Amino acid sequence: MNFSKWVSLIFILNLFCPTLSFSDSSSSSSSSSSNGLTEIPKRFLQFAKRPELFDWMVGIRRKIHENPELGYEEFETSKLIRTELDKMGITYKYPVAVTGVIGSIGTGGPPFVAIRADMDALPMQEMVEWEHKSKIPGKMHACGHDAHVAMLLGAAKILQEHREEIKGTILLVFQPAEEGGGGALKLIDEGVLENVNAIFGLHVSANLAVGEVHSKAGPIGAGNGFFEAVISGKGGHAAIPQHSVDPILAASNVIVSLQHLVSREADPLDPQVVTVAKFQGGGAFNVIPDSVTIGGTFRAFSKESFMQLRYRIEEVIRGQAAVQRCNATVDFFTEAKLFYPPTINHKGLHEHFLNVAGDMIGIHKVKDVKPLMGSEDFAFYQEVIPGYFFLIGMQNVTRGRLESEHSPHYQVNEDAFPYGAALHASLAARYLLEYQPEVSFSERKFHDEL
Ligand SMILES: [Zn+2]
Ligand SMILES: [Zn+2]
Repeated sequence: MNFSKWVSLIFILNLFCPTLSFSDSSSSSSSSSSNGLTEIPKRFLQFAKRPELFDWMVGIRRKIHENPELGYEEFETSKLIRTELDKMGITYKYPVAVTGVIGSIGTGGPPFVAIRADMDALPMQEMVEWEHKSKIPGKMHACGHDAHVAMLLGAAKILQEHREEIKGTILLVFQPAEEGGGGALKLIDEGVLENVNAIFGLHVSANLAVGEVHSKAGPIGAGNGFFEAVISGKGGHAAIPQHSVDPILAASNVIVSLQHLVSREADPLDPQVVTVAKFQGGGAFNVIPDSVTIGGTFRAFSKESFMQLRYRIEEVIRGQAAVQRCNATVDFFTEAKLFYPPTINHKGLHEHFLNVAGDMIGIHKVKDVKPLMGSEDFAFYQEVIPGYFFLIGMQNVTRGRLESEHSPHYQVNEDAFPYGAALHASLAARYLLEYQPEVSFSERKFHDEL
């Protein structure tokens, strides 16, 4: 998940969002009866658990883990993906958004559904000593994106083996730069979601048991923005404060005032965060500096709350600095597109997820997740088309506690792979069988000819 930087474009327009409806299963042209439909997730899971498929996924993941690449630099990872797609006979588009690969399985015609994996690593040193430790100093897959790629390739294998059952087209989205680079936004800009009816994405989670999946309808991840302010006064001797305008004191008051935004202005039932995480100013015991730089993050689960925070952060910084006779400039990094929207799961797709995951692992293992204040660039897709994001468990208590994401001690439990691969494949295949886009009269006439 992206807990770091960010991309703007809070107001992406809904480019294409067709109304979806259940097709009547009794009149479905699919060879699967409604009974057959419910069997798909179990069959796919059994397929994914076969030793040859499991070992293959593990091998791919370990190769990627050894050679981590940062956002928009995933050239070797992308090459590995394309080599495997070639071997499976799956066509793809490349390059998309620098290193992205979009595979395609099925009829080539509508409806279209997408399943997505992020490919990028983090700029940090791996501290886990094991056979497949990162070979690149200062770079590490510490968020499980190597596992995500392996599972999406696993799904590709399942789907390609069962391509006769696919009633439409499944796009395999291998996305660059989730960790702050806004790879999702770049893919959207390049038209990847055109005509796509829905998209699914997953993240491995160290806190949930293997064989369990967690998610919910509505918001599951917060919108996330960053701010930085330079508060300028007038430097001078610390013993003669009357000749200076002290930006340290002004910045301190600004920070205290910022803490009132959530505690006094926000609805207590609408979770929000304002954190000042950066404070730089001064270098000597006896010098009042000219200026101080502060910076931090703000988070909320709705666009309205998010934009209100953004507005008030700027107002408070400028106003409070002025009270202390200082000037302030505030930067929200909108140029660098450093805003991520809230991750909001589509209600209809949540029902679909409950049905498919329930059929696969039993509904008692499909649990509600508590929303996180973290953010995920999958949210960009959800601003454009219905999207659904869920977590799959990796925890095995008998093997000890796993570190959480972005830890240098982060480890992936590969036992989760069959579940991720089979869920990706089942969600997409069943979506095409159960949901059909409503077509206009003229389109229907056209389709009648088929
Ligand atoms: Zn992640
Ligand atoms: Zn991450």
